[in-house]
Amino acid sequence: MSHVFHRHLHQHYPTAVSGEGPYLIDAEGRRYLDACGGAAVSCLGHSDAGVIEAVREQVGRLAYAHTSFFTNEPMESLADFLVARAPEGLSSVYFVSGGSEAVEAALKLARQYFIERDEPQRQYLIARRQSYHGNTLGALATGGNAWRRQQFEPLLVQVSHVSPCYAYRDQAPGETPEAYGERLAEELEAEIQRLGPQSVMAFVAEPVVGATLGAVPSVPGYFRRVREICDRHGILLILDEVMCGMGRTGSLFAAEQEGVAPDLATIAKGLGAGYQPIGATLVSEPIRRAIAEGSGFFQHGHTYIGHATACAAALAVQRAIEERDLLSCVASLGEGLQQRLEARFGEHPYVGDIRGRGLFRGLELVADRGDKTPFDPSRKLHAAVKRTAMDKGLMCYPMGGTLDGRRGDHILLAPPFILEESHLDEIVDKLDATL
Ligand code: PMP
Repeated sequence: MSHVFHRHLHQHYPTAVSGEGPYLIDAEGRRYLDACGGAAVSCLGHSDAGVIEAVREQVGRLAYAHTSFFTNEPMESLADFLVARAPEGLSSVYFVSGGSEAVEAALKLARQYFIERDEPQRQYLIARRQSYHGNTLGALATGGNAWRRQQFEPLLVQVSHVSPCYAYRDQAPGETPEAYGERLAEELEAEIQRLGPQSVMAFVAEPVVGATLGAVPSVPGYFRRVREICDRHGILLILDEVMCGMGRTGSLFAAEQEGVAPDLATIAKGLGAGYQPIGATLVSEPIRRAIAEGSGFFQHGHTYIGHATACAAALAVQRAIEERDLLSCVASLGEGLQQRLEARFGEHPYVGDIRGRGLFRGLELVADRGDKTPFDPSRKLHAAVKRTAMDKGLMCYPMGGTLDGRRGDHILLAPPFILEESHLDEIVDKLDATL
């Protein structure tokens, strides 16, 4: 019996022993094409020589120095790198160890910002239904995924949820994308009015929804309307780019494609590409200044913030993406993947929708294409898809339908940026055999 306390207490997985480009290899020598980067993590594949060397060099020189005593070079360089490329106004970076920690830091930065400004009554968060922002208590309370929340309720943070932007199911027949986006913006405005604009702290959303909906982008103009509404009421906009950020959708930050800049942005996963655990919260200049000129101290901290080796790994990953122009590959490979998926599954009886941006693609599985009826969630189709795909040597990321029955199962694809065209064919062939 394994002595590891794992979240899937009854499941037995193969033992991963090595990685080779886009493949993982288990103890029996079986190869798995990584078409999901784990959970959109491994954007450089599994054995990048440059990143390995950067990690080795940093560990050898200085593995770790606590940030309440020292700053360190990789952390400073990585912050410079990110700020130089971030949406306008984001001027500093708080480094953590992963996505949930980045969301927690964003929530507490928002809260402290309003306390510094003498607006302590701004306590409410608005997020979206069927969203995921992490598993720590604050991040879990922020997310609107009923299945993940139910066991732990009541949760501590004051959050209400509005509709996500989910055109496949919620755009009405005959409604234009613009009118649909406007309808969602009005729902947000109404929720702000219900809570009282002076009591709302922040609106939290993923620019392209990953785990809970399966690579669902918003309709054009939606986030610009959200930005206007937040500005009008002095509410902060927090964009969670933990999954969709760091080049996954074809631009370094997914927000760039929406034409908006958030007040706080969270990143993780592709930042360190799995070579080290790392996440970060990017902070706008007004928030930094309010805290710097107020108490001068962010009431927060973790032992591993600004971990030198993690920052060195992330810097090597991000420089490699830039030097090898991999974001162009994301755009062209992403188009190639979408075309192949449509060609193969466009008429498939159980594939209702194929969507996404860049190398972030989702297939929604339905029992009936015509009326979009989801499969019964109790059938746990997603678990069978995952197991079957693994048997065929493919890692993909399937998720189940929601408790409220408003959407079907989906399969998320988020492969490394270093694929060859032939890997796209291998993904589609193995997925076809799986379905
Ligand atoms: N936010 C989003 C959008 C995510 O997709 C995830 C992870 N799936 C998280 C936050 C939490 O990140 P982590 O698992 O690294 O804590």
